[in-house]
Amino acid sequence: MGTLDIRRELIDIVGEGGATFSPDHHPDDLHDETLHPGHEVPYAVVFPSTTEHVSQIAMLATAHGIALTPRGSGTGLSGGATPVPGGIVVSFARMNQVLRLDTHDHVAVVQPGITLQELGEALAPSGLRYPVYPGELSGSLGGNVNTNAGGMRAVRHGVTRHHVIGLELVLMDGTILRTGGPVVKSSSGYDLTQLVIGSEGTLALVTEVTLKLSPVMAHHATILVPFRTLEDVSRIAPAIVASGLEPSMLEYLDVLTMTAITNATDLELGVIASVAQQTAAYLIVVLETRSDQQLSDDIAALAFLVEGAGALDVYVLAPSAGTRLIEARERAFWVAKAAGANEIIDVVVPRSSVPSFLSEASEIAQRHGAFVSGCGHIGDGNVHLSVFLPDDEKRAAMLLELFRFGVGLGGQISGEHGIGRDKQAPYLELTDPTLLALQRRIKQAFDPAQLLNPYRLLDERPMP
Ligand SMILES: Cc1cc2nc3c(=O)[nH]c(=O)nc-3n(C[C@H](O)[C@H](O)[C@H](O)COP(=O)(O)OP(=O)(O)OC[C@H]3O[C@@H](n4cnc5c(N)ncnc54)[C@H](O)[C@@H]3O)c2cc1C
Repeated sequence: MGTLDIRRELIDIVGEGGATFSPDHHPDDLHDETLHPGHEVPYAVVFPSTTEHVSQIAMLATAHGIALTPRGSGTGLSGGATPVPGGIVVSFARMNQVLRLDTHDHVAVVQPGITLQELGEALAPSGLRYPVYPGELSGSLGGNVNTNAGGMRAVRHGVTRHHVIGLELVLMDGTILRTGGPVVKSSSGYDLTQLVIGSEGTLALVTEVTLKLSPVMAHHATILVPFRTLEDVSRIAPAIVASGLEPSMLEYLDVLTMTAITNATDLELGVIASVAQQTAAYLIVVLETRSDQQLSDDIAALAFLVEGAGALDVYVLAPSAGTRLIEARERAFWVAKAAGANEIIDVVVPRSSVPSFLSEASEIAQRHGAFVSGCGHIGDGNVHLSVFLPDDEKRAAMLLELFRFGVGLGGQISGEHGIGRDKQAPYLELTDPTLLALQRRIKQAFDPAQLLNPYRLLDERPMP
């Protein structure tokens, strides 16, 4: 069968206007936000509107041996959704509805293309929310599921896998199946929902997501705490987590990153000049409570705690400034990209090992002639470093050393962005071969022809 026949078959499935064909693709559909975009051009980008469409596309791809690349919003940072030359990109942009909202059981069933922004807006009238908060609100739930996205509220609410209780999946042979359901616990066989979460589009196409929701907290405050050293900031984080204050965000920014994001967003936080001059790093703490009184008590307890740990000052921000600071923090990636960062990494280590990781990171960077600066979800031990070192080989050597150190501390190469293509080489080098072999057998069970999102994560074959 020639490409013309495949084109006709695809149009038969998704309808006229439901697909683009090479070379007439929209450029936005051809990349994610990796700092190392390739220029691979797929044969087709298809926009299914139903699970049945997705199933038929999978069957067609399998019948013709064509690679499929699932795509959400393309905000991923690891090259997880970049196309395969001659392959088919399956964009979930048209499958973006809330299918069911159950305010008694606190459950929502959504299609995978819905963005975090759209979901938040749909839930707002109910007083419920999906509490996971990866910084990029244009990201889709399907992408969040497949990267096990984390973000700023993970310190209190956990990550995607803690709030996804069921999935509808399409396998590469076209089979449609459901895992889990609208229940918050299960002890009934292997948990395939959790297996697919974080699988980076390599096991199945996710066509529906069942979410566990939480009530919105009525009272909140954003507190900014400057410290003299980065080490002071990273040492206080475990104490705040242990205090029982249960912050909903616990972020750090080194002074360079803070200056860059506040300048980029024209944000004035009112830190007095003499304090700013001595500051090397900032802690941002967001507290959320059910009552105003509890909020005041918690702010006082936090202030006591951080002052005892060497805080230079404590600023309880006005609500609008607090919101703007969190929005500015979300922009850290774009600011680093604009500054010419060559890599953004998101190593996670045990919370108490962050001081040691940050200090070693700066030594490793110096040894390799690199510059690093960053911020991160310090309450989770998840450090985001922008790495400035243009030479690809030197950077790869530096990163391998840094990842090895993080893994040696009990950490992981990626806490939330995924391995994709960008971190595949160090991931394969630093992961136990037995673990890799078992994962490959799982992949084989789901996708024996290796056609679903190939050439990333475990798949070392060179891109054709
Ligand atoms: C400014 C910025 C800030 C960010 N902050 C954070 C953060 O704080 N925390 C965090 O975790 N991430 C963050 N990210 C990364 C990104 O937003 C997340 O990885 C997000 O989960 C990606 O969603 P997406 O819809 O854009 O997925 P894509 O980039 O489209 O895809 C991501 C992966 O999921 C797969 N996939 C997508 N949809 C499906 C589906 N329906 N079925 C099967 N596989 C699928 C793709 O093949 C790919 O492997 C940030 C990104 C940016 C640009």
